[in-house]
Amino acid sequence: MGNVVDELIERVYQYALDSRDGEVAGYIPELAAVPPDSFGICIATVDGHVYERGDTRTPLTIQSISKPFTYALALADRGRAAVADKIDVEPSGEPFNEISLDPTTEHPRNPMINAGAITSASLVAGADPAERFERIRAAYSAYAGRELTLNEDVYQSEARTGHRNRAIGYMLRSFDIITDDVDDVLDLYFRQCSIDVTCRDLSLMAATLANNGTNPRTGVEAAEPALVEHVLSVMATCGMYDEAGAWLTEVGMPAKSGVGGGIIAVLPGQVGIAVYSPRLDEHGNSVRGVHSCYELSRNLELHFLHVTRASRSSIRAKYALAESQSRMWRSDEERALLQDVGTRAIVYELHGDLLFAGAEIAVREMANDARGDTSNDENADSGNPDSANPDLGSTDKRPAVEVMIIDVRRVDDMSSVASKMLAAERAHLLSRGVSVALVDPEGILSPALSDTDDTTGTDKTSNDVERGDVQTFADLDTALQWGEDALISRHGDTSRPHDIELNDHPLIAKLSDDQREALTSALEIVQFPNGDAISVSGSKSAGLHLVLSGRVASTLTDNRGVEHNIITLTAGSTFGELPLLLDVPWVNDFHAHTDVTAAVLTPDAFSEIRRSHPEVEMALLRNLAARTHAQLTQAVQAAKHAGAGPLRT
Ligand code: GLN
Repeated sequence: MGNVVDELIERVYQYALDSRDGEVAGYIPELAAVPPDSFGICIATVDGHVYERGDTRTPLTIQSISKPFTYALALADRGRAAVADKIDVEPSGEPFNEISLDPTTEHPRNPMINAGAITSASLVAGADPAERFERIRAAYSAYAGRELTLNEDVYQSEARTGHRNRAIGYMLRSFDIITDDVDDVLDLYFRQCSIDVTCRDLSLMAATLANNGTNPRTGVEAAEPALVEHVLSVMATCGMYDEAGAWLTEVGMPAKSGVGGGIIAVLPGQVGIAVYSPRLDEHGNSVRGVHSCYELSRNLELHFLHVTRASRSSIRAKYALAESQSRMWRSDEERALLQDVGTRAIVYELHGDLLFAGAEIAVREMANDARGDTSNDENADSGNPDSANPDLGSTDKRPAVEVMIIDVRRVDDMSSVASKMLAAERAHLLSRGVSVALVDPEGILSPALSDTDDTTGTDKTSNDVERGDVQTFADLDTALQWGEDALISRHGDTSRPHDIELNDHPLIAKLSDDQREALTSALEIVQFPNGDAISVSGSKSAGLHLVLSGRVASTLTDNRGVEHNIITLTAGSTFGELPLLLDVPWVNDFHAHTDVTAAVLTPDAFSEIRRSHPEVEMALLRNLAARTHAQLTQAVQAAKHAGAGPLRT
């Protein structure tokens, strides 16, 4: 028993099964011999699952469904310009076997009617006819994901009777569209039409087109994505001959039919559909095939112009550093300053698949924020934003944002135009003096930003920021620290030294004179050079550390090998109480992130002082409790942001 998709297909299958209308193709004698009421439907997904109902493994000749695939091969062999010199891409509204050329260009009107298809075959490269056919057969096989073979009987039958195609061939020769031997070209065309496929093969060939040219089961690239887009465009407008307009309106998928009774339809990025049923309508399209495609499109909402909803906001959450601080230990003054100016640094959390519309929302929001503009509808004040008096009743005027952190961890995919837009916007922001960083552990956007030469149109001397140097962080916390540092260096008192004296360390400053004396004399001042491992997880206590200068980072490396920052400690902070007080091993690594000076109370010195001054242990515990409280408060704050729902802008 299958799933609900099988049931949907079953319903369509039963619906179309009733029809006995139409006749099998009679003009190729061998085709008239097939069982007329065979019927199969396949849907192949772009991840390679094939739903099958009915006669999906019965061989049929590919016939005109071969045309887009040979056209793709001709494009790959000769290039688009050379092919366009011979074959137009205009819907003809004529039957597939019309003996006609466009009166103005004197070219076949498109590659989906026989005149264009025979021309495509003539453009396939190869030393001799045998090699050309082998290249065609191999190309179709790559789309299908298995080796396809020629149906000798159908080929012989069409070669004997294909006088109309001969007429078309000679017409093409007389207009110098075909320059090679016409009979060789016609023979190649008859052979390509007589390759055996099944309904299942056809659905995978269609799914390969839906999957940008790569067979979803074998992973083999049958055609380049750019060519696939070109071929699908022509299938959309010309694939169903004189039924193309109604087809596009009702079914809304690029498609191709063949007089063997097959039809393929392609929904780019989603599915390839194939239907097989040999009775044909007056256009030469399978009657049940057409019915099935109409029903599948309607029931499964497959019309490629069906707009389900407007593009969702690409900004999942947006918040200021004032609301969500890093886990960096900061002095009270720094915390106060960050509260004060923290609205000037913003985190933009982007998500989903970023195409033009999603990137547009993001860059518009960022540009507005850099101006300190709250209305995100620029049209409202499109006159001259600079002339607006900021003090005049504009209660919603905010300070311009100076620091931006773009978090792309939840972005699934980004189109090249989206990454170019973000790269160009970043360059604009930098030239306005905004500091910009990324949280991008997978490198989804950072490579585009480093490649600023051809992505930005802004002038290169406008700022002193190293353009190639993209601030990229693997985790949000490190980026938040960077953002806070940027705000502190812009707004803080940078003349104040970051180092502290031992007696000014908050832990010491809180002690009584007596206790302070006892503790300081037990402490050892230790220098840790940049990069030094101060403690390693699992190891025994190395004592209590009071940081006097520099930065100490505590990190963990996740299962994918990405390093995450747990906390960064600066002068005035302490660490190592827990292993010391509880006699347990360290649970994380601490290393010197800069040159570090710390005062260290070794376990031995601690046992000593515990005996002589029990109150010191109490003071340490109180300090630990206070820090735990501060961290918990921050964690609660951060969790509130993590829960922030999608933000409509
Ligand atoms: N071999 C067939 C022909 O050229 C293909 C036509 C078709 O499938 N529409 O007549």
